Amino acid sequence: MPKIKVLPQHEACKIAAGEVVERPANVVKELVENSLDAGATFIEIYLAKSGKDLIRVVDNGCGMSAEDSKLCFAHHATSKISTVEDLDTINSFGFRGEALSSISSVSKVTLVTMEKESQSGVQTMLEDGKVILQEDIASDIGTDIKIENLFYNLPARQKFLKKDETEWRQVMQLFHAFVFDYERVHFKLFSDDRLIYNCPPVQKLSERLAQLWDSNISENLLEVSGKDEHGVEVRGVISNHQVFRYNRANMFCFVNSRLVKNYELSRAILKGYTNVLPNGKYPAAVIFIDLPNDLVDINVHPRKEEVTFLNPRRVENLLTNAVKQAMEKNLSSHISNPESFNQQHQTNQAMPFESPSSTPKKFKGARFSDYDFDSFIDQVGFSDLEANTPSSSAKNEQQENVIEFEQEEQKSFVERNFEVIGQFNQTYILVSKKEGLLLVDQHAAHERVLYEMFKNRFEQVVTVNLMFPATIRISESDLETLKPHIDVLKNHGITAEIFGKDQIIIQSTPTYLKQVKLDGLINQLVAWINEYQSLDLDQFKKEINEKMHAQMACKAAVKAGDILSNEQMYELLDDLEKSSNHMTCPHGRPTFWHFSINEIEKKFKRKL
Ligand code: ADP
Ligand code: MG
Repeated sequence: MPKIKVLPQHEACKIAAGEVVERPANVVKELVENSLDAGATFIEIYLAKSGKDLIRVVDNGCGMSAEDSKLCFAHHATSKISTVEDLDTINSFGFRGEALSSISSVSKVTLVTMEKESQSGVQTMLEDGKVILQEDIASDIGTDIKIENLFYNLPARQKFLKKDETEWRQVMQLFHAFVFDYERVHFKLFSDDRLIYNCPPVQKLSERLAQLWDSNISENLLEVSGKDEHGVEVRGVISNHQVFRYNRANMFCFVNSRLVKNYELSRAILKGYTNVLPNGKYPAAVIFIDLPNDLVDINVHPRKEEVTFLNPRRVENLLTNAVKQAMEKNLSSHISNPESFNQQHQTNQAMPFESPSSTPKKFKGARFSDYDFDSFIDQVGFSDLEANTPSSSAKNEQQENVIEFEQEEQKSFVERNFEVIGQFNQTYILVSKKEGLLLVDQHAAHERVLYEMFKNRFEQVVTVNLMFPATIRISESDLETLKPHIDVLKNHGITAEIFGKDQIIIQSTPTYLKQVKLDGLINQLVAWINEYQSLDLDQFKKEINEKMHAQMACKAAVKAGDILSNEQMYELLDDLEKSSNHMTCPHGRPTFWHFSINEIEKKFKRKL
């Protein structure tokens, strides 16, 4: 007896069906794609039990003749290609002619369809892939196909179906994708006889998003566009820094108008958000990439969800840059346009300028300290300090600061278009603007300001000699690690001397770190050196310097709980506005939250 058996045709069909159909969402995809290929402009999708019991798709497309409505279920039946070569040029979804044959082998199918030219419609019913009935029936032009009891004859597969909610999520994701991709098509989605979404045609992608996404996302969107000289084009819409999601479910990429799953593309989008989104958070994004057919192979996967580019890096870079540009444009428009942080509403009035009297927790620290020589001297003792700067003497520096301060003051009289209401919970600055209310996180904001300043004045920082040099003890092995990199500290304005086997003596520090204990920073530096040691020198320096800037900014910044004077709050807000990336702190937390007048009025039901 031979061990090898040839499976009967209908068993082979059922197995092959697994390639195309794994779950309800796959069936929905095949059916909706067929409707779109048939030129439909109105497509209704009905599900029962997330598609496990029923999937029905009704369209107003071209319909089929009686003959075709039987043929379409045959293996490799398609009206879309006749030779394999056609695959290279085909622009419709279907091309394998396998979807309906596969689906009909694992479910009960009822098809009602009518062509424009026909006198009447025709109904065809199938079980186990075989036609069990065909008859004329009254019908509208188009196609109405019902798939019932998916995998009823394949219990092994039925067992693998997930919970209703999981299957539903998959269908929803797919429905979103179709709706985004086909702005001119009217889509409706019903679940267990309830209308869930009704999406009439729209003119613009942003209107589409508003049909499906909650207002929190759809009011925080930016347009993205980019093009290169090889005919690759990127367009779409992404969420700004104010919203983020905990997974990638709201990220959609279409290549030549087909939804694709491509990890590199979503990574390229995220890369464009560097330093703007907190770690592990994802944006909402709908991106269309269009490129000549010979630069992409979209047919590598049986379900056509994957894509291979001839030159993936080129596409990814274009995408990353487009996202970056959209973010940057958004940031600069926040500064300059009427909707922005500093609104164009000129005033000759001085801003309220009362300083609360000094309290023990009143902040006297960095950046403000640039102007704050008196308190600085009070704390350290004038005779014991000497300001060092590579470029100018202490006096010059002091003068420069005074001049800067005067300019700063003048600015406050003419240009500011926001008003500080006060400090909330000793942590947030409340700001009133014509178009809304701003809640600024004082620590995050100050961190960002200092970070940018450290970066820009790198190796030019103003330092002070400490009256009592600080001794820091570290382990012998840490000191060995640090020794070859002691210059890093110097570049950041910290003069350190190695003393014995396990001590470092700090002679001077940047002025803005004068009150900060440096043990933590030194230990951190040792850890970073260990972490980045394997990088090449340039990359190593870049990483270490960036980390040092962020850490120094964090240490020197005002903390939650520090009381700020009005003057300090205005100063911080002015500085924040001038900083690049001012929407987030160097660690990616937002620096402020904006409540538009619109939102506020909606909340109080003054407006619907
Ligand atoms: P493919 O789409 O790959 O050609 P399918 O099995 O999905 O294969 O469909 C087979 C054929 O049935 C299609 O080529 C098309 O001619 C016809 N067809 C399927 N669905 C529809 C529909 N909704 N409207 C009109 N024709 C359809
Ligand atoms: Mg098809």
